[in-house]
Amino acid sequence: TYIMGIETSCDETAVAILRNGTEVLSNVVASQIESHKRFGGVVPEIASRHHVEQMTIVLEEAFDRADVTWDQLDAITVTEGPGLVGALLVGVNTAKALAFAKQIPLVGVHHIAGHIYANRLEKEFEFPLLALVVSGGHTELVLMREHGNFEVIGETLDDAAGEAYDKVARMLKLPYPGGPEIDKLACAGEESIPFPRAWLDEGSLNFSFSGLKSAVINTIHNAEQRGESLNPEDIAASFQASVVEVLTEKTYQAATKHDVKQVIIAGGVAANKGLRQALTSRFTKSDIPLLIPPIQLCTDNAAMIAAAGTIAFEQGKRSGWDMNANPSLVLK
Ligand code: ATP
Ligand code: MG
Ligand code: FE
Repeated sequence: TYIMGIETSCDETAVAILRNGTEVLSNVVASQIESHKRFGGVVPEIASRHHVEQMTIVLEEAFDRADVTWDQLDAITVTEGPGLVGALLVGVNTAKALAFAKQIPLVGVHHIAGHIYANRLEKEFEFPLLALVVSGGHTELVLMREHGNFEVIGETLDDAAGEAYDKVARMLKLPYPGGPEIDKLACAGEESIPFPRAWLDEGSLNFSFSGLKSAVINTIHNAEQRGESLNPEDIAASFQASVVEVLTEKTYQAATKHDVKQVIIAGGVAANKGLRQALTSRFTKSDIPLLIPPIQLCTDNAAMIAAAGTIAFEQGKRSGWDMNANPSLVLK
């Protein structure tokens, strides 16, 4: 099969073409980071406008690089939600128009299913499988018993991990997006501040990052009031140590509890060096295989949407012409 993926849920305009579900023929991503940087975050109206401007360029580039023609395409898959509604609408309407014009099937995909399926571009899934999803808007432990079946067994009660990274980065006056900046600083710092670990109730697989965020704010604030200066590298390292320890431990607990055959990580924060190291050393000591995708597949892209979309297509899922962008689409 030749499947196209289209992704516009946030600030990346992306189109990819896959052969047989796992072979990436093209994966074009136009990032808008530079346009949003001076606002310190994604401005929804600007994001939508950029998607409109970039879409045809990215689409043509995806066809060129893949060396595939319209007639070869078996389906068009697109991120239906969640995300920014105005941004999603650009991808959804592009996909609908193309599928209608070319009379090929249209398949709506959940953005997080896409993040998870990015891993399948590297290695075949083995079930039951546990995915740690850590992105800008989500922090979840997802149990999969078979393809296309997602059970959320743990989730954040407040901020997402990526959101916490971006907020702490803003306190440290680092540019947007803050995650990679904190990651860099943390590598150069020492874990000298004992920030709290949010374990929640005994055995809970849920997460919480708002207490940690407040602890970081208070620490910075108190130091300022005393006229002391804290080393930003150490704040970053101490913050990251708390996030990484909780994510790693809960992932391990969930993996043993459900006796999974494979653990994967997904989403932008999966690019984090500290997290990748901690998970690797935790799981090397166990006999549960851990799969860590290459960094360019962790952040938003369309190959992951086409990967999840191929499975949905093969399972017979079809979306109608009434498909709409759904900012609060539920993963199931
Ligand atoms: P969602 O996928 O939940 O809809 P999103 O698409 O905006 O949200 P992603 O693109 O998956 O999120 O990830 C972006 C997030 O990942 C940002 O919060 C960013 O700061 C964070 N991030 C990226 N690289 C790193 C890193 N190396 N360390 C920590 N965080 C990172
Ligand atoms: Mg993004
Ligand atoms: Fe994402």
